[in-house]
Amino acid sequence: MTKDFQSVIGLEIHVQLASASKMFCACPSGAKAALPPNAALCPVCAGHPGALPVTNAQAVRLAVKAGLGLNAQINRTSVFARKNYFYPDLPKGYQITQDDKPICQGGYIEVQTEDGQSKKINITRAHLEEDAGKSMHEGAASLVDLNRAGVPLLEIVSEPDMRSAAEAYNYLTGLKSIMQWLEVSNADMEKGELRVDVNLSLMPKGAAEFGTKVEIKNLNSFKAVKDAINYEITRQSGVLKEGGIILQETRLWNEDKNATEVMRSKETAREYRYFPEQDLPPLVLSAEFIEEVKAALPPLPAQKRAQYARDYNLSAYDAGVMTLNKDICAYFEAALKAGAQPKAAVNWIATDILGKLNAENKEITQSPLPPQGLAALIKAVESGKISTKIAKEVFTNAWQSGKSVEELLKNTGGQISDEGQLEAWAKEAIADNPKAAAEFKAGNAKAIGALVGNVMKKSQGKANPAVLNKIINKLLA
Ligand code: ADP
Ligand code: ZN
Ligand code: MG
Repeated sequence: MTKDFQSVIGLEIHVQLASASKMFCACPSGAKAALPPNAALCPVCAGHPGALPVTNAQAVRLAVKAGLGLNAQINRTSVFARKNYFYPDLPKGYQITQDDKPICQGGYIEVQTEDGQSKKINITRAHLEEDAGKSMHEGAASLVDLNRAGVPLLEIVSEPDMRSAAEAYNYLTGLKSIMQWLEVSNADMEKGELRVDVNLSLMPKGAAEFGTKVEIKNLNSFKAVKDAINYEITRQSGVLKEGGIILQETRLWNEDKNATEVMRSKETAREYRYFPEQDLPPLVLSAEFIEEVKAALPPLPAQKRAQYARDYNLSAYDAGVMTLNKDICAYFEAALKAGAQPKAAVNWIATDILGKLNAENKEITQSPLPPQGLAALIKAVESGKISTKIAKEVFTNAWQSGKSVEELLKNTGGQISDEGQLEAWAKEAIADNPKAAAEFKAGNAKAIGALVGNVMKKSQGKANPAVLNKIINKLLA
């Protein structure tokens, strides 16, 4: 049904800046604002007449950091504006935001498309603004909590560059990871620290002009974003197929009904009457300040990926897993520093360690096996002291008991490489399996499997396979 149409998607993402205080006053923000309702309030964020806002320097620094991480241009001068509308959770009757002169402009995030290609999703702008409060409805009563009013946000607006739910998902993942990596925002969607508005339109495949877009507001989970996009693609293509037209409107995602619903149409769209915020001077940044923030920037995930691909010959996929977040990256690098071979470290981390952690719903910082332990395990396999099979057992044991790999290795019999012992077992195996031995001698290379298997059983899996193979070959030459 949707194959005749091309979807076009642009995202507007609000991230809550990880500043300890609000955007224009000293009231606590973020985790520090987890107080009883309306306890994190002062005349400024409660909108008392005559109270004057003061710009939060830490929030400005975080916005600049974010802009640099998004490859954006940082505007030396940006201007705060009032966005006027009436709502019970907006005490001043306007929101302080930035309109035509935002702090960041342009930029892009590199994402993977469905066919594994790399694609730049362009960013239009990112601007500073304050959050509104929260309305709660309890029975017949409506309550307002203003603890969130005035909390600093950065709104990041993308160009309509995404062409599928998967691309939007990858863009969102990339953006969230950059925000967390730079410690600009905790970006925890469950806590509302990252909220997404999806803009979506359809056009006939190959068309030159975009169709009419619909905006789906305030999505607060990855799943909701994906489900809402897929629902909207199906809904809009259904309308277009029947010769209908798409109305420009704002919709909401109804999780229970698994559907989007109209919130307001273009006719009832708000007129915000933007005008410059008279109580705040333009935000002017010095070139030195921007340079200072830039100089303190850690290497970004994309830079790390490129470095890993180059220095350790990792595939794009492997490098991606090692840079999923800063902690995984640190773990991987610590293992290498302790002497682990890179590809082996990737395999253990990506499958065994992250697999177990995911199952236990834990982060890598909670891994019972430290990176040095992993390195010891990898080195023991590499030197032939233990087989991979034994290494897996030691790993499981270390994970469950919390004992160190080094200690467990001391008590592990290790791999048997003693040629005299292996030769004795190999002779027995040949005597027990004359048929396999004859076949091997006659040129059937696969017949060696039965002989090796026999010795493995005798050695309880500890025979060094490389040495054993050599011995059997010699005996049957
Ligand atoms: P508005 O005037 O409604 O605010 P903007 O042009 O400012 O619209 O764009 C808002 C968001 O919608 C941006 O993320 C942008 O990429 C996206 N967008 C704009 N036009 C379209 C379209 N035709 N289809 C999908 N997304 C679009
Ligand atoms: Zn306040
Ligand atoms: Mg707009």
